[in-house]
Amino acid sequence: MKHPFGARRRRLARLVPGRGPGAFLAVHGPDVGYLSGFTGEDSWLLVAGCRAALITDPRFAEQARREMQGVRVVVRKGSLAEALGETVRRTGVRRLGFDPEHVSIALRGRLAKALGRARLVRAPGLVAGLRICKDKVEQQAVRRAIRVAEEAWREFRKAIRPGMTERRLAAELDYQMGLAGADGPAFPTICAVGPSSSMPHAVPGNRRLRRGQVLLVDFGARVDGYVCDLTRVVVAGRIAACFREVYEGVLAAQEAAVRRLGPGVPFADVDAAAREVLKAAGLAKAFRHGTGHGIGREVHEAPWLGPRREAGTLQPGMVVTIEPGVYFPGRFGIRIEDDCLVTETGRRVLSRLEKDLEAMVL
Ligand code: ZN
Ligand code: ZN
Repeated sequence: MKHPFGARRRRLARLVPGRGPGAFLAVHGPDVGYLSGFTGEDSWLLVAGCRAALITDPRFAEQARREMQGVRVVVRKGSLAEALGETVRRTGVRRLGFDPEHVSIALRGRLAKALGRARLVRAPGLVAGLRICKDKVEQQAVRRAIRVAEEAWREFRKAIRPGMTERRLAAELDYQMGLAGADGPAFPTICAVGPSSSMPHAVPGNRRLRRGQVLLVDFGARVDGYVCDLTRVVVAGRIAACFREVYEGVLAAQEAAVRRLGPGVPFADVDAAAREVLKAAGLAKAFRHGTGHGIGREVHEAPWLGPRREAGTLQPGMVVTIEPGVYFPGRFGIRIEDDCLVTETGRRVLSRLEKDLEAMVL
């Protein structure tokens, strides 16, 4: 398949604010990877028209040359900022766009000093705006990450036993993801048992899974630089009636939000779809986070599908999670999360793990 990186850089170069040819400096790792294919760390990418240079250090020199095409590799001896200054002078760049989201005030000072006569111009969200819709290459990578995570989940399900600690459970799932072909977990796997599950971002500890308890698992695989993000709740043994009611409510809310996905739909409408169902079920107060977020090279990226009336509508190519959840401190929490692609005509649910309550009983 043809590498998409050159075309991405050309699109970016046209978007740098100001008149005449400008350049852009990417310092955020996922942006650098998106624009070049480089997977190492601590490196900056300078994009100037159809030319590009990666400023890196000796640790990544060989990797950079292998992974990228059409990008000059500058192996720095001094600091990143000094090497950038030299490269900019040699390239004749006069105006350099940067994203203030990823440049601290201290770094901005160092850049201004190193750049000399070249001027820094703020370009907030420039690369994020390109990354928000996934091209075919990216969609395929997310799908691969999902297939790997799902294969791992099926093995993991067979291995769950009452008495296992959260730590052991999380290690088991990470191990299975590695066997299935993940480059690594997309983020630290959450395995939360019983009362721990009421904390949306619980850290696995030594709590053991007991009969009658729930186990909330939030996990994802990273494959070829892209991630997935899935959540399921399993029940060890008999289902209490109150639990059933809550689970069915969350599932109905999740399905309503998925149905709302489509091109041109305001972000906040997706969240409202989930919230309305939970409100009707008397569960709205227990739902304290947004309904979903974009995924791609990062686990959390634009768009944000929360209750705030943020400007923007869904576009074909966006890949988002739908994950309403309700939490009862000290008791339990339930969240159900799938990954969906917005298409020209509606949506495609990319993840296919079972979620009917009967299927979630151990
Ligand atoms: Zn998640
Ligand atoms: Zn998520």
